[in-house]
Amino acid sequence: MNNCIFCKIASGTIPAYKVFEDENYLAFLDIAPVNPGHVLIIPKKHFVDITETPDEIVEGAITLAKKIGGKIIASKLGEGFNIGINTKTAAGQVVNHFHIHVMPRLPNDKYQLWHGKNYAAAEAEKIVEKLKLEE
Ligand code: 5GP
Ligand code: ZN
Repeated sequence: MNNCIFCKIASGTIPAYKVFEDENYLAFLDIAPVNPGHVLIIPKKHFVDITETPDEIVEGAITLAKKIGGKIIASKLGEGFNIGINTKTAAGQVVNHFHIHVMPRLPNDKYQLWHGKNYAAAEAEKIVEKLKLEE
């Protein structure tokens, strides 16, 4: 944990361009923005990823992401925004301290979203059983 870059940013050991800070959260500019105004939101406390972060901390972070997204649009840094949470290496998580990306999007910024695949015959029926949640 001592080697965690986002813990160092949270403690002020490493500088960052901060857009919000309170006792639980910090929001700051990503060092390599998808578009200018790309913000990362972190809990100050170290959790490896969303699966290990308490629900109430996740909820507060999502609410902050919504507010920052509104600011992106109001400031015209984006006409829209994507919210991203990369979870584990397979999904592109590089920094193992839970964080939310809020990424400004502009028409013709050349980024693409995922391209969907098709389900094979009878595959969706099996998959949905694996994913059903208890109430
Ligand atoms: P991940 O792939 O883990 O979801 O994204 C990590 C993000 O952290 C990347 O977008 C990367 O540019 C950003 N990042 C990595 N190191 C630093 C840093 O030292 N300062 C800031 N502001 N952002 C960083
Ligand atoms: Zn950390």
